[in-house]
Amino acid sequence: MAKKKKNPVEVYQMVCGSCQTRNYVVSLKRENKSLEVKKYCPSERKHTPHKAKKA
Ligand SMILES: [Zn+2]
Repeated sequence: MAKKKKNPVEVYQMVCGSCQTRNYVVSLKRENKSLEVKKYCPSERKHTPHKAKKA
């Protein structure tokens, strides 16, 4: 039986705030639109704030 999706999850890309590289892909609920997390940026080889952008 096919279930209806109650909480649609959308795919976002985590974009590096300083070099704009898309390093990660995450799936978030719609409410968490402006998410900013410190993540490791492979091109800069350090942790930078990453913003969630719609894929
Ligand atoms: Zn970067």
